[in-house]
Amino acid sequence: MVCHYGKDLKEMIEQVKGYTKSGKVADYIPALLKANGDDIGVAIFDGNETCFSEGEHHKPFTLQSISKVLTLALALMDHGEDVVFSKVGMEPTGDPFNSIAKLESHIPSKPLNPMINAGALAVTSLIKGSSNEEKLDRLIQFVRELSGNSQITYNQNVAKSEFETADLNRSLAYFMKQHGVISGEVDVLLDFYTKQCAIEVDCEDLAKIGYSLAHQGEHPDKNYSIIPFEIARLVKTFMVTCGMYNASGEFAIRVGIPAKSGVSGGIVGAVPGGIGIGLYGPALDEKGNSIAGMKLLELISAKYHLSIF
Ligand code: GLN
Repeated sequence: MVCHYGKDLKEMIEQVKGYTKSGKVADYIPALLKANGDDIGVAIFDGNETCFSEGEHHKPFTLQSISKVLTLALALMDHGEDVVFSKVGMEPTGDPFNSIAKLESHIPSKPLNPMINAGALAVTSLIKGSSNEEKLDRLIQFVRELSGNSQITYNQNVAKSEFETADLNRSLAYFMKQHGVISGEVDVLLDFYTKQCAIEVDCEDLAKIGYSLAHQGEHPDKNYSIIPFEIARLVKTFMVTCGMYNASGEFAIRVGIPAKSGVSGGIVGAVPGGIGIGLYGPALDEKGNSIAGMKLLELISAKYHLSIF
C-alpha cells in the first residue's frame, strides 16, 4: 500500500496555517509556553514503511491528555472492565477537561469518563507496579511498542513544571480520595500522572500509535496484537465520545475520526481499519484543542472520506 496523500495534504497544511494565529499556546503548565504557536506538523501511517509527513513532524512534544488513552488501555489490560469502570464512568461531560463540577454533583462521586483529568487520575491510580518508577517503565515500554520507537522517554522539565503547578489536579485527586475513588498519597499519584503526560513523541510516533489503535493494537511494523481487540474497540469509542473534551460532539460531526488531543497541541487519530494520523499544532482554541490541527483533520476527513459515520 502506498501513501497517496502527498500533494493534497501539502496544500491543506498551507490552507490551515493561518488558523494558528487565532489560537494560543497553553500557559498553565509553564514549560509548554516554550512552544512556537506557528508550528503545524502532520504524519500519516498506513501500515507501510512510508508515511506521509509534512511541516514540524519531527518536533518532539509531550503527550499530555493523549496519554489518557494509553493509560486506559493499560489499566484495562491490568484489571479488566469491572474494576476500571467501578472507578470511572462512560459518559461525556460537556465540561472543560479539568472541571470538578460533575464530581460534586453526581452521586456516587466518581468521574464521568477516563478522558477528563479526574477520570484519568483515577485510571492512572490503577496502573500496576510496585513503585512509580516501575509503573512509568511499563507505560513507556507500552508506548514504545505501540509506536515502534524504542527511544521514547519522558521530558523531565515538562513533568517537573506541571508537578509544581498542578494544584487543580491535586484538588481533583484529594476530592476523589475523600470519596474513596482513589487511595494512597495524592502527590505520589501526581508524580506519576505528570510524568505520564510528559512522555515525548513526534508526529510520526503518534501516527503509528494511531495506526495501532486503528488496527486493534496490532504492532505497526510486525504482526502481533499489543492491545486486545475488545480493549482497542472500547478505547476508540471513548475517543469518539470524549476524546476532544467538550468539543467531542462537534468534532464527531465535522471530522468523525476517533481522536484524542492534548494541551501540548498533539492530536492522535485512528481510522478504524485504516490509517493512523499524528498531528502537532500547539496554538490551541478556547477548549484546549489544536486550532489548526482540528481544521486540518476536518479537511483530511472530507477529502479522503474518513468519517466513520
Ligand atoms: N497534563 C495536563 C493536565 O492534567 C493534560 C491536560 C490536557 O492535555 N488536556 O492538565
